Amino acid sequence: MKAIFIAPCGMNCAICMAYLREKNTCPGCRKSDESKPKSCVSCIIKNCEHFKKTKSKFCYDCEKFPCTRMKQLDKRYRTKYDMSMFENLEFIKKHGIEKFLKAQEKKYKCSKCGGVICVHRKKCFKCGKSI
Ligand code: SF4
Ligand code: SF4
Ligand SMILES: [Zn+2]
Repeated sequence: MKAIFIAPCGMNCAICMAYLREKNTCPGCRKSDESKPKSCVSCIIKNCEHFKKTKSKFCYDCEKFPCTRMKQLDKRYRTKYDMSMFENLEFIKKHGIEKFLKAQEKKYKCSKCGGVICVHRKKCFKCGKSI
């Protein structure tokens, strides 16, 4: 897991289904738009005018934070995927990106093969173990 995979909203692209799957993969939010799904190229958060003004390049730095879009995204992820953008961002703000990456590695590491657990599918894409 690397800092470049942590999106402005707090999403860890390294645990995303689109990043982990074998076909039509997405390189991650902060990577080039070339092979990204359309929805990610046109993402409201990444293209947000306020985001461009943030110093840290994370939404927690924004004067509008937490905006409606972020609240909706956080609610969707808390409900469906047992993950919170706000918790992620708070952790990054408080402890820094390196500690966040270590915590993510631990949280999403497959206990069977050491691969990565996908937050969307709730399973390891390497060995298929479900959580
Ligand atoms: S689809 Fe979105 S969340 Fe998933 S890896 Fe791409 S940019 Fe990140
Ligand atoms: S918190 Fe909302 S308004 Fe601020 S940069 Fe992020 S998406 Fe834009
Ligand atoms: Zn595994």
